[in-house]
Formats: sequence, C-alpha cells, structure tokens
Amino acid sequence: MVAGQMTTITAAVLARSGDQPRPYAESRPLTLATLTLDPPRPGELLIRIDAAGLCHSDLSVVNGDRPRPMPMAIGHEATGIVAALGSADDTGFAVGDRVVLAFLPSCGECVRCRSGEAYMCAVGAAANGEGRLLQGGCRLHDADGGDVRHHLGVSAFATHAVVDRRSAVKVDRDLPPEIAALFGCAVLTGVGAVMNSAAVRPGESVIVYGLGGVGLSALLGARASGAAPILAIDPFADKRAIAQDLGAVAVGPEDAAEAIARLFSEGGADVVVETVGKAAVLRDAYRAARRGGRIVTVGLPNPAEPLDIPAVSLVAEGKTLIGSYMGSSIPARDIPRYIALWKAGRLPVERLLSSVHPLADINSLLDALADGRAIRQIVTP
Ligand SMILES: [Zn+2]
Ligand SMILES: [Zn+2]
Repeated sequence: MVAGQMTTITAAVLARSGDQPRPYAESRPLTLATLTLDPPRPGELLIRIDAAGLCHSDLSVVNGDRPRPMPMAIGHEATGIVAALGSADDTGFAVGDRVVLAFLPSCGECVRCRSGEAYMCAVGAAANGEGRLLQGGCRLHDADGGDVRHHLGVSAFATHAVVDRRSAVKVDRDLPPEIAALFGCAVLTGVGAVMNSAAVRPGESVIVYGLGGVGLSALLGARASGAAPILAIDPFADKRAIAQDLGAVAVGPEDAAEAIARLFSEGGADVVVETVGKAAVLRDAYRAARRGGRIVTVGLPNPAEPLDIPAVSLVAEGKTLIGSYMGSSIPARDIPRYIALWKAGRLPVERLLSSVHPLADINSLLDALADGRAIRQIVTP
C-alpha cells in the first residue's frame, strides 16, 4: 500500500520548553493534540507506533536543558509497524514489517557516513537540530495548519509517525513491542558506549555512573563483554539492587571513593562510563579511571556547564576521554546484533522496563523519571 492522504493522529506536543513548574502532572507541559500527518514521501514510511520509551533526553527538551525548536511532538525511542510506504518501488521495507526507530537518521552520502561513522552524520544532525525530517520539512501540522516539529526524526509519543526510511531498522515481527522499543535509544546508546566507543575487552574492569536506561544498558553491555569487576554508582537503592542482581557491585555516590580504592588495584577502572549528564559527575568519572584508562561519556549536560579537570592529566596520566553519541552505533548493524544477544539471554534488557502506560499518563511519567523513580517507562499509544 502507498499512502496517499493525510492521517489524523494523536501526539504529545510540547508548545514551550523550560518554563513549566513541577510537578508536571499539574503543569502539563505535554498536550495530547490532534494533528494531521502528511503522507510519507518516497523514501519515507508511515509507522503505526505501538510502544515508545520515555528517555531522559525527552525530559531535557521539556525542562530546557536541550533546547529545540517549538512546537515539537516529542519521543524518540520507539517501535512500530510499517503501515504504508512512500513509494511502491521502495525496496527493503514492506507493509506489516516491525521496525525499531533510531534517533539519528544517516544520509549515507556525507563524509562521515562514507567513513563508516553514521552516528556523526552531519546531514542527520542538522535535520534533528531543526526538528525536520531528513528530506526537509515537517509532516506534522496542527489544527491551524502550522508546522509541528519532529523530535529527532521520530516523534514517537503518538499513534503514528512518518519517518525517513533511514531512521528505521527492520526487526523480527514477533518481538514484544515494549522490549523492541528499548533498542532504539537506551540499548543502542548504553551498550554501544561499551562495545563500540570503549571497545571493552573480556576481563577489563568497568565503572558505570548512573543507572537510568542508558546506564543500566551500559552495565548489561559490560557484562555481555566479559568485563569484571563492574562497579555501578547511583543514589537510588532500588536501581542499585538491579545492578547487584546483574552481578555488579553497586554503591551510592557517597561510598564511591572507598569502593574504587577497594576494587581496583591500579587506583581506578580500565573503563569508566558516565551516563548522568552532569559535568561534575563526568569530572568524578574522569578521576575514577586508572592511569591510561578510557572514560566514555554519553550524558548530555546543560550546555552552560564547563568540565573542570586538570588539563595536564590527559598527558601525564595518559587518559582517553571519549564523547559517545548514540553509542558510536550504526543502527542497521548494531540493533540486530543487540537483539541477537537478547535472544541468547546475554543482554536481559527487560530489566530496564519499569512499567507500561497509556499515552494519557505522559506528564506524570515525566515526574517519575525526573524523581529517579523509574528506569524505562513505556507508553503504548
Ligand atoms: Zn533517548
Ligand atoms: Zn551522512
């Protein structure tokens, strides 16, 4: 089937960023709006969303830490079923396919894409920054016909989305949607940070700062890579309990220094993964790597936060500080790999799943995430 007409959809739309007080359940920054969705153009897909995860990067758009053009239909970690193709001769996808959506489309043509670094695609990053699709423009419109921006090419807290085919990765039709969605951001970023950016080898020691969806995924990736020991640091006891269950030593920030001294004979770990998105935590993570160690950061601090480390230490201590966007992942390569690891029982991503909710709960879910009460809350539109 090729889509020819507009679809009327429901989507969670953010009109303004950064000025709504907590609790969000009362200030309601996200409105469930009826929007029109243009038919997909050639090279695009109409997706019926059936599960979308709430990620800290969504919260960062709501609270203004990650400024984006407004109004925007948010949500970027999702799975769904292909409902229509933009062109009948579009190969590679068919109506009825299950896809996982990746939050950075790669153009395939720029120097970074041609260098095998699709996660650094300049064309995709520019489109995401402007809140439009890769081919340009918005397919989402409000009741007055005004453009509503796309969030990272996905806009997943919605009944349907039109995405560029380069945002979609085909996966097994029978994957449970609430599991499949997790592979689009949390797993792609966290496991990728360990397996791609840090290239952790069996027997290397790893510290993970922060046990949200990305941090817990990093822990799972470290375990699947054969890392040992693994230390997880998070202020919330219930998240530490999951980490301990998965074979890590888990402590609160107040006990981190003692645990690091006790566990790592060289004064720090081979690899430290920072997932909190605070410059002060990245400074601690940097210190927690041994001489010659690697520090991978995937958190997104507010742009106003500088990083305070002694410049000389990079050379004198031979440390490598790695910024990892999307876990240095190639979604079409890595999402199937991680799903295969999950199927083999080596990457139990279901441990990320806190709860499943209707779209109408979205504002109170923001509160639960901001309070640290949830890892991954899944919305089923
Ligand atoms: Zn995310
Ligand atoms: Zn590119």
